[in-house]
Amino acid sequence: MPRVVASPAPVRRASSRRTQPPPADIDANPERNPDVQDAQSALRASPDAEREEKNAAGTGGRVKAPRKSATVSTPKKSIKVSESDSSLSEMSDVEPPTPVVSTSAKTVGTKKQAAKKTDNQVEADPEAEAEGDEDADPEELTAAMMRPPAVNSSYLPLPWKGRLGYACLNTYLRQATPPVFSSRTCRIASILEHRHPLKDPTQPEHATKNRPDKNQPADVARGQAYVEALGVANAKDIAKMLRWNDRYNIKFLRLSSEMFPFASHEVYGYKLAPFASEALAEAGRVAAELGHRLTTHPGQFTQLGSPRPEVITAAIRDLEYHCELLELLNLPPQLDRDAVMILHMGGVFGDKAATIARFKENYARLPQKIKDRLVLENDDVCYTVHDLLPVCEELNIPLVLDYHHNNILFDADKIREGTLDIMELYPRIKATWDKKGITQKMHYSEPCPGAITARQRRKHSPRVYTLPPCAQDMDLMIEAKDKEQAVFEVMRTLRLPGHEKINDVLPYVRLDENKPWKPPKKKKTPKKKKAAEGEEDLPEEPEPQPPAVVPEEEVAMGGPDNRVYWHVGFEEWLRPKKREVKPRDPEKASLRQRKLLKEGPRRQPGRQLARLALKLAAQKDQSRPKLLLRQEILPRSRLGSRSPSTTRARPRRQSQRVHLLARKRTLNQRC
Ligand SMILES: [Zn+2]
Repeated sequence: MPRVVASPAPVRRASSRRTQPPPADIDANPERNPDVQDAQSALRASPDAEREEKNAAGTGGRVKAPRKSATVSTPKKSIKVSESDSSLSEMSDVEPPTPVVSTSAKTVGTKKQAAKKTDNQVEADPEAEAEGDEDADPEELTAAMMRPPAVNSSYLPLPWKGRLGYACLNTYLRQATPPVFSSRTCRIASILEHRHPLKDPTQPEHATKNRPDKNQPADVARGQAYVEALGVANAKDIAKMLRWNDRYNIKFLRLSSEMFPFASHEVYGYKLAPFASEALAEAGRVAAELGHRLTTHPGQFTQLGSPRPEVITAAIRDLEYHCELLELLNLPPQLDRDAVMILHMGGVFGDKAATIARFKENYARLPQKIKDRLVLENDDVCYTVHDLLPVCEELNIPLVLDYHHNNILFDADKIREGTLDIMELYPRIKATWDKKGITQKMHYSEPCPGAITARQRRKHSPRVYTLPPCAQDMDLMIEAKDKEQAVFEVMRTLRLPGHEKINDVLPYVRLDENKPWKPPKKKKTPKKKKAAEGEEDLPEEPEPQPPAVVPEEEVAMGGPDNRVYWHVGFEEWLRPKKREVKPRDPEKASLRQRKLLKEGPRRQPGRQLARLALKLAAQKDQSRPKLLLRQEILPRSRLGSRSPSTTRARPRRQSQRVHLLARKRTLNQRC
């Protein structure tokens, strides 16, 4: 067999700490800094869950591999696969076979898909298919409904002694003020922009007033310091997440692959040491203190069976990045061994046996530190447990069983759908872990209600309501879109340890945050009255007291009542909705006015709105003196009460701005 892959040690630029400017002092709060964005895959149930291409495209996304099209030929016909070479990216191009037709790995099929969908259709609406909520065609539907019912084990692993975990993001902490999460990312354009110094380098960056100045020379190190600062902010938030988890009996977390944006990127990639060493070591200390397991799951583009050398090179680069991240946690021996990297075999590339052969060849050349952490997971499109288990046994790789995937793709000549038959393989699966001294883990999720076909069932339900028939002390990763809430859901349903600690959130009430507080304005006693009565005679009014300060370590921890559980669909209770202001009659407004009104009081200083209102009024009623109009329009605003010469630009409070807007409307109507 020709040697397909020349695998040079992938180059990742070492952090040039000494030559670079001090770490960027950036505002890592996405509420205030629009350059900071949420990494898309951290929001999903799992890296292989539904993709949200629209969003990714809108934000620039995380560019890991180009997604042009390549054609791979199969014995029968050509099928389209994405250049990312991922089984999971294939999912959006090809439909997974229903279990009925997927009995054998050899036919894993793409025939029907290729016939059914043209490339254009796929490009037109990648999300529909990925979301799994599109209409299935009648043939597919019939086949899916004709399949025999799932045969499930009735065993429940109770009393539960294992660790339950979730992936990457905590919805409660993400919505806290300030937000706590470890998947802040940015666009590459932001890195490039931040190679230029700020307009005023002595002041902190401001979204509009103090931006990088592109007229000044760019410095690569400065852009690097910017992206490193994001990564450090992410790493620093892990400790908080772990303490939060521990308080509610969650002791298992998958770390976001996007913690260090673009770290494994071909061009913008970088090493994590030394700049992130301290932040990661601190996270590791907390994990060790709490006995909290940490794992990772590199994304769908990271595969070792691809026929394309550049994909292998990129995959190894990504594995090295994950490996460095886990090493820098500096975990005690067992937790360190348990800090694994979950990987899928990936695509079939027209020939499953050849792909597995390439995987074996590439695996053999991996550095030992990567081999020590690599774990294979069955998927729901290409590789069943029966496909992977022999590979795992041969190469000494642990196999993580994903029940959800197994219910969609399994070898029907060996087992039936459901959790019962797969239990026969438990001893062999467990042995792949025991051999390496790594604590076994499994993945559990449930399909959405109403899902019938394989494609529909791929979508993860936001919550889970039961446990699979695993060992009572299993480490179980719950892959669900509602993240920690899905763990809570099953805790509550089955009364697992920890359920008693969790109470319902109240809408928008967070007693675990320090909100900005100003003492209410004192009513001024008129001077004359004061003089007449004499100050001593007045009883002293008690000074209004600020609310008690929530100590730093208690912020966002759930408050005195541990109100951290939100019922399905009530995530919005975690935060008040942002006010939306719509112009009453957008047709009539000029372009500039429309823009002003559209951006509304949130973006535009009230003064600008006030001026606009004034201008409009002056135009419409030229007979009246401007000062009079001013008083009429802005009777209660500072702008109105001051003389123009002393007026200063000052951002209005929300209420004032809304008030001004309302005034402007009334005025428009009156005129
Ligand atoms: Zn999984």
